[in-house]
Amino acid sequence: MTTTTDYAALSKRLLDDLPPLQNYIGGEWTPGPTGETFMSITPATNQPIATVHSAGRAGAQQAVIAAREAFESGAWSRMPAADRARALRRIAEQIRKRADEISVLETSDTGIPITQIRAGQVLRAADNFDFFAEMATQITGETFPVEGTFLNYTVHKPVGVAVLITPWNTPFMLETWKVAPALAAGNTCILKPASWSPISAYLLAKAIEEADLPPGTFNLVYGSGETVGTALVAHPEVNLVSFTGETTTGKQLMRTGAETLKRFSMELGGKSPVIVFADADLDRALDAAIFGVFSLNGERCTAGTRLFLERPIYDDFVSRLIERVRHIRVGDPLDPATEVGPLIHRRHLERVMGYLDIAREEGATIAVGGQRPDRPELADGNYLEPTVIVDVRNEMRVAQEEIFGPVLTVIPFEDEAEVLRMANDVRYGLAAYLWTSDVSRATRLAPEIESGMVWVNSQNVRDLRTPFGGMKESGIGREGGRYSFEFYTETKTIHVALGQHRIPKFGATS
Ligand code: NAD
Repeated sequence: MTTTTDYAALSKRLLDDLPPLQNYIGGEWTPGPTGETFMSITPATNQPIATVHSAGRAGAQQAVIAAREAFESGAWSRMPAADRARALRRIAEQIRKRADEISVLETSDTGIPITQIRAGQVLRAADNFDFFAEMATQITGETFPVEGTFLNYTVHKPVGVAVLITPWNTPFMLETWKVAPALAAGNTCILKPASWSPISAYLLAKAIEEADLPPGTFNLVYGSGETVGTALVAHPEVNLVSFTGETTTGKQLMRTGAETLKRFSMELGGKSPVIVFADADLDRALDAAIFGVFSLNGERCTAGTRLFLERPIYDDFVSRLIERVRHIRVGDPLDPATEVGPLIHRRHLERVMGYLDIAREEGATIAVGGQRPDRPELADGNYLEPTVIVDVRNEMRVAQEEIFGPVLTVIPFEDEAEVLRMANDVRYGLAAYLWTSDVSRATRLAPEIESGMVWVNSQNVRDLRTPFGGMKESGIGREGGRYSFEFYTETKTIHVALGQHRIPKFGATS
């Protein structure tokens, strides 16, 4: 069994050997034209662990030109799908080969516990490449025979240059979730990761470099959203923008891209309800509710952050919840026993703790947690005790706004109508979790909850073929399975005349 000491030693060795992270443009590693750098800081101690070269506006433009030239060359976009699939599988192999290195560095960079990264996120990232490799060979069109006079059919073509902008939470998996389908469809792409967790994008670029794709097919640029992100989204040679991040940022991107009419996929924030009826399997519901909000340090877009409990079970469920949450193991994210690690950044910790003050001011009660752990060994990190807030009304800010940390609000309900109204009375609509043993009720309610995805009697478990995405202010469009190709390909309709159908003869004299 791998121990904390093993992971800590590996992390130290890898970080000691980590060079300053460069941009990867046109198949070359480059500091970029600006000479500017920034530091990545580990949330466990707030010490710098990596120097990163910002591409700046000029570097972003170079990346777009590299991706455009690569696309136009056809080396990737016209490559037979089976060959593209082989290249994607080589990336998956590289990820699996480097899984320990990626996991340890991702954990050091993000604070997400090593067990959740190593067993979940990194292997899933490799699976994304294998899955979309397979899908690349299965992109088919439709045929529309028209009574012997026409054969109409559709083909799916790559769109062009895709810009992929990702957030700091679970960066490696989310990056592969975009890069894999973008490339599978034959596009070239530019990845712009978040500046608070830049390391794993470098490791992804390394894995892609090893897989030997044509230069310029995949590019990586570092830098702030305001400069590098804006330069990419505004560039007229960019066709597609797939964005995952905050709702307000998504709106800003759409304004930036409006001038050049970008095609957007938007995966935004969430405030997802967990609804537990008295007839549910309450032990399983409790396990899932706790996992759903406290895994990945609560920095999870699909986190079930609003727990609605049917009145007869409220008191008992809440006391069991509090008891369990009190015992969640908070600690060093490299310790395999840790369940909740430090939050990504000191500023984010302050933001999350600000919501606890807001909760108190609004009259809610912190039932458990709400403090920084009183343990000297955690004093330098961005740790927060897992927190449950009760005496909450649905209109309170803590029940309406995305906190994005280990914080759960709990609200009782009387009946189906009331809980449906409260579940939907929020601007987000990403995920929902419904717990009941009554099949009729589950079937009745699931379609009525305003969210892109509903899990019945389950935590968030996703098959790669299913569509992922949100409604309302949680996003636009769906990615996943074949739905990714609706975004990453252009559907072209071809009309072939089979005979002598009538053509109007304007200007004919006889
Ligand atoms: P963010 O919106 O601050 O940043 C996301 C990315 O956008 C970063 O790379 C950032 O540099 C870039 N960016 C910022 N301003 C930009 C601009 N003006 N132009 C172009 N790019 C810009 O989000 P975050 O704080 O990194 O991530 C957390 C958020 O992401 C949460 O709201 C969470 O719910 C959301 N999220 C959503 C999903 C989903 O699938 N729906 C998944 C994960 C995270």
